Amino acid sequence: NNFEELDLIKPIKRALAEENYETPTPIQAQTIPAALTGCDVLGCAQTGTGKTAAFALPILNRLGKQDRKPIPNRPAALILAPTRELAVQIGDSFDTYGRHLRLKTALVYGGVNQNNQIRAMDRGVHVLVATPGRLLDLMNQGHIDLSRLEVFVLDEADRMLDMGFLPDLKRIIKELPDARQSLFFSATMPPKIVELSQRLLLNPVTVTV
Ligand code: AMP
Repeated sequence: NNFEELDLIKPIKRALAEENYETPTPIQAQTIPAALTGCDVLGCAQTGTGKTAAFALPILNRLGKQDRKPIPNRPAALILAPTRELAVQIGDSFDTYGRHLRLKTALVYGGVNQNNQIRAMDRGVHVLVATPGRLLDLMNQGHIDLSRLEVFVLDEADRMLDMGFLPDLKRIIKELPDARQSLFFSATMPPKIVELSQRLLLNPVTVTV
């Protein structure tokens, strides 16, 4: 049970070896093979379990397989996180695992001037990591269009609901294309989270660690 056995492209395996990752964590072992085949995933996992790589590696593998140009204002993958701190950490993980790939990642969060974020979106990114409020802002201004999205990730869904993001989430979810892969992570599964996951996911592979 090691990363060599997973069906990941060479540049990703190389980055993992450089990070001294040898063995997938339980959440990684149980979700990555399913996510690599394009399945939806419902992961019940806390921070510290390796859940970031559980969604980042399948996304990087999918987008890194072919040499594709980013489309201005139309990301191919979107990761929603509740806070700026978490968004930055997720962005760092994509940069680390994707360092041998030519994929563009951008961060979009509130509390800072939006101009740099808009410029990055205009240049085009493959992977967008965002908090819900600023994402909606830029969508409403016409700077972000989710019509070409292939993979959607909701990270720390329970925290997002605790922070009052449900109305924003519903507005964002309405803009997602039907043909997409969705990955959903939450530390706890209260009824409101189960309901949200059912709205988002189609026949998910469900993993609890
Ligand atoms: P996360 O739960 O995604 O916040 O990850 C927790 C920490 O574990 C991060 O510092 C990762 O770099 C590290 N990590 C994740 N997966 C592995 C792995 N398979 N082997 C070693 N370290 C890992």
